[in-house]
Amino acid sequence: MGETRQRIAVIGAGISGLSAAWLLRDKFDVTLFEAEARAGGHADTQIVRPDDDEIFVDTGFIVFNNVNYPNLVGFFNALGVASQESNMSFGVSKNDASYEYAGGDLKQLFAQPENIFKPRFWRMVADILRFNNQAPALLDHESGQSLGEYLIANEYSAGFVDDYILPMGAAIWSGSVDGMRAFPAKSFIRFFVNHGLLKISGRPQWRTVTGGSKAYVDRVLRDLGNHVRLAAAVQRIRRTADGAIVETSQGSAVFSQVIFACHADQALAMIERPTPRETEVLGAIGFQDNIAVLHQDAALMPRRRLAWSSWNYLSQSKEDQSQAICLTYWMNLLQGIKTKLPLLVSLNPNITIDPAKILLRKTYRHPQFNAAAMQAQEYLSDIQGVENFWFTGAWTGWGFHEDGIASAVRVANALGVGAPWQPV
Ligand SMILES: Cc1cc2nc3c(=O)[nH]c(=O)nc-3n(C[C@H](O)[C@H](O)[C@H](O)COP(=O)(O)OP(=O)(O)OC[C@H]3O[C@@H](n4cnc5c(N)ncnc54)[C@H](O)[C@@H]3O)c2cc1C
Repeated sequence: MGETRQRIAVIGAGISGLSAAWLLRDKFDVTLFEAEARAGGHADTQIVRPDDDEIFVDTGFIVFNNVNYPNLVGFFNALGVASQESNMSFGVSKNDASYEYAGGDLKQLFAQPENIFKPRFWRMVADILRFNNQAPALLDHESGQSLGEYLIANEYSAGFVDDYILPMGAAIWSGSVDGMRAFPAKSFIRFFVNHGLLKISGRPQWRTVTGGSKAYVDRVLRDLGNHVRLAAAVQRIRRTADGAIVETSQGSAVFSQVIFACHADQALAMIERPTPRETEVLGAIGFQDNIAVLHQDAALMPRRRLAWSSWNYLSQSKEDQSQAICLTYWMNLLQGIKTKLPLLVSLNPNITIDPAKILLRKTYRHPQFNAAAMQAQEYLSDIQGVENFWFTGAWTGWGFHEDGIASAVRVANALGVGAPWQPV
């Protein structure tokens, strides 16, 4: 008789749950529960036919790079998943296209030639250079400043703040432009330094999964075989003396360990009697809904073709700044896709999209990082592994794919399983 393997439940089949289940599948008897009928979570590829051929386009996770995503790259290599070069550039179109520029190169910077005569534009350019030089110094000091406080204290210009740094942050974290003011300044700057965003050249080459993120999700599902339960939303988890009972719409089962790979608030809601520390830590991370529309309406892009970038921030009025960001991803450029009309994903569109040009509409939820959320992340170790509950998810880090998989690697390590690639 072979040794009976411990049973582990993994809740949520996004990158965090997929990688956790994949890493643990040999040592443990793993069951991966996913509420939706498809696996992937924010790794979400749509199959559309805008012209003649079938096109695989991502409406969620799109890009990664070899510098900031070591675990993801290791995972893709282990799976034999192919990727290709992508493009990361940022364009801005404000107030009904009355002000536009893009950061790809000098030509794009002056996509609207009249900018040469705008002092606000030149102050922005000067402040970008100043921020790039000045900001890293904050990392050497103790600072509880928010980004908003930091920008005021250092007298950054309105053009730099409202047309560049806050929109770029809101684009990265899918938040609101004004909401970025609450982001802890030191963390913001650390992220910008790590991602080479304070350098004009020598930034990491961004990549995208060939054929869309579905390619890697399908590959993982193949390895997990019949250990995956789709359309099996976990409704409640009851702790027992030596594990937990997991109740889903499909019935209940007993496990020795539970790995939560859904969002913090979702995990908290399903634990029957959370510990006070679990309530405190998981409850401190807020999430925001973002609507994503896959469409072909160029009205959601900068009016000047030269300013078209892979990420395009659109604002119609000052009031937009307090709303969830309106951002259009130019998928043709990001994923190397050819279509007659552009293939676009707009987050939170702030103008009407021609209904005839809409292919699909989805809602995603993103973690909101403020001082309280980041403080809670530091206390995560207090609840990790306590009475057999483990917590993973992109929300445990910066909110990206690497954070999701890195959190899964850490939990796998704690359960005695190493990743088959260089650990971080
Ligand atoms: C539009 C968009 C673009 C993005 N682009 C990038 C990018 O280019 N690069 C990057 O690194 N990151 C990007 N991200 C960030 C992305 O959120 C993370 O990279 C990552 O995919 C999140 O993974 P996760 O495993 O933490 O959560 P998710 O992917 O959200 O997975 C959580 C899963 O848990 C499931 N679940 C929830 N409740 C239950 C329940 N009760 N029972 C069972 N299952 C449940 C959900 O259905 C979901 O499948 C993007 C996100 C969005 C939305």
